[in-house]
Amino acid sequence: MSDFDRNLALAGALDVLPDLVGVLDGEGRLVHCNAAWAAAQHPWTRIDVGARYGEALPAIPGADRGGFVQALARILADADAPPWRCEYSLGDASARTTWQSSARQVAGGAVVVHEDVTHPRATEAAFKRSQARLRTILTGAPLVLFSLDRGGVFTLVEGMGAGAGGFVGPDQIGTTVWSGYAHVPALLELVRGALEGRIGVTTVHVGRLAYEVRCSPLLGHDDAIEGAVGVATDVSERIRVQQLKDEFLSIVSHELRTPLTSIRGSLGLLEGGVTGPLTERALELVKVARINSDRLVRLVSDMLDLDRIEAGLLQLQRQPVSLAEVVVAAVREMGGLAEHAGVRLQTAIEGDPLEVVGDRDRLVQVATNLLSNAIKFSPASAAVQAVARRRDGFARVEIVDRGPGIAPEDLPRLFQKFSQLDASDRRARGGSGLGLVICKRVIEASGGRIGVDSTFGHGSTFWFELPLPRVSAGAGVSRSADREHTVAIDAAALDRARRSAGDPLVELLRLLAEVESGALARLADAHAAATLAAALPQHGDAVREALRACVLAIDAALAGPESARVGIAAAQRHAIVDAMGSVP
Ligand code: ADP
Repeated sequence: MSDFDRNLALAGALDVLPDLVGVLDGEGRLVHCNAAWAAAQHPWTRIDVGARYGEALPAIPGADRGGFVQALARILADADAPPWRCEYSLGDASARTTWQSSARQVAGGAVVVHEDVTHPRATEAAFKRSQARLRTILTGAPLVLFSLDRGGVFTLVEGMGAGAGGFVGPDQIGTTVWSGYAHVPALLELVRGALEGRIGVTTVHVGRLAYEVRCSPLLGHDDAIEGAVGVATDVSERIRVQQLKDEFLSIVSHELRTPLTSIRGSLGLLEGGVTGPLTERALELVKVARINSDRLVRLVSDMLDLDRIEAGLLQLQRQPVSLAEVVVAAVREMGGLAEHAGVRLQTAIEGDPLEVVGDRDRLVQVATNLLSNAIKFSPASAAVQAVARRRDGFARVEIVDRGPGIAPEDLPRLFQKFSQLDASDRRARGGSGLGLVICKRVIEASGGRIGVDSTFGHGSTFWFELPLPRVSAGAGVSRSADREHTVAIDAAALDRARRSAGDPLVELLRLLAEVESGALARLADAHAAATLAAALPQHGDAVREALRACVLAIDAALAGPESARVGIAAAQRHAIVDAMGSVP
């Protein structure tokens, strides 16, 4: 290619560029400019080709003309002179543009470029503003944001409370969570989970403060886990208020119980005519007072019950009990209420007595509660069914009604304290909103499950189920004798699992799998399971599921050639059912 052709090609290439490009010869004369330069309105492009560029440059307010001229002279004279650049604005406030002008050496001369950087500068400024805004929000909100790399080293700590005697401070950047928080195992567990891909939340106590910490995996471009990010919120005040509220409710309930019982008693006596016959009007008033004091007594006893359960004082008198008999007793107890409401009660016992291990009175209380709700929410003359039957190794009670049903969005609130789905229910139907919470706690403490299936507008089926032993609990095997046969793998093995890097739950499941492979006697006892459950509060549901799987596995083993170990397994089964009750 001839020089002419080469120059033509180069000029064509320059014409494609959006930037304004001018070429100077060794004397600093403008010898060529590209198409963008020729078309531009920029003052530093309005210079004739052939003129000495530096000398012809007009001044632009805010732009460093002097620096430009000097730099050009240096660039043309000295082969080692560095490139030069400056930035400035053109135009008034209504149409301001930002420019970057630069000059650099090329063989035999220099090249000058004027670049419109209005758009990138505006984007940068907007980004900086949004970062500043985010930082203001972060530092103003009572939370701490942190991130960790794969090794558990803090890489970022931001937010109010960070450092102020709070949870994590900026001085922790560069240190590992493992060394700094060895005394907060719940946090380490959470971080370990996030580094393994799980999102989790836990409450940690640091000094007198409590933080709710949420942690999730931090994913890289290829979805590989690069570390973890977390947000810690100071919930000390919320917990304090909750405690105050609980204490207040507990005091009020205790104080109310005695006078209420006496009021209820006196009203009962009056209604029963003990003090002589009452006029019809007086009897009616006494009856209204008695019904309302019954309601108050129920509310107070519900609150006391829950108080006791939450303080860990729920004592279950475990013994073999027939769920069929529980259903019959509950239906008998609710007969009056149903009759009064014009609701028909139907009982269906499918099959055998369905013997489980549980506290009879508490189970009747649960069935009664579900029945009384079903009656309360049923239209007059509708039927409510109480069913007891067997399902997948569990004895199950179902209370079926044709009431309004429960909307899917309300289901999560159903088993929470004081949750009445429709505020008007309280007045219209009575109730405290505590019944289902108590039922849930009782059933879970008994090693069972409780739930509801409902079609909105077409009624609900509230159910609970307890594991059915394959071997009756009264098999005549004494617990202490069984323990002698049980090789203790025990707390120590599970504790080791907990400390090991692997997921303790995985380890537990591995142990459970061994049940089926015949290593029955090596399985965890109740103490070990409870240790694990306590170590894994955030895995409550998973541990409970695992323990349930364990019970089923033992049942399967009992039915098979492992029958020689029936005694041991039956005792372990009870122990595990016990442990299920202690899972948070
Ligand atoms: P309460 O003492 O108020 O009945 P529960 O905890 O037993 O308290 O029930 C809580 C709420 O759940 C009720 O107020 C009602 O809104 C809803 N609920 C319970 N059982 C039923 C049912 N069978 N049909 C429709 N809604 C129900």
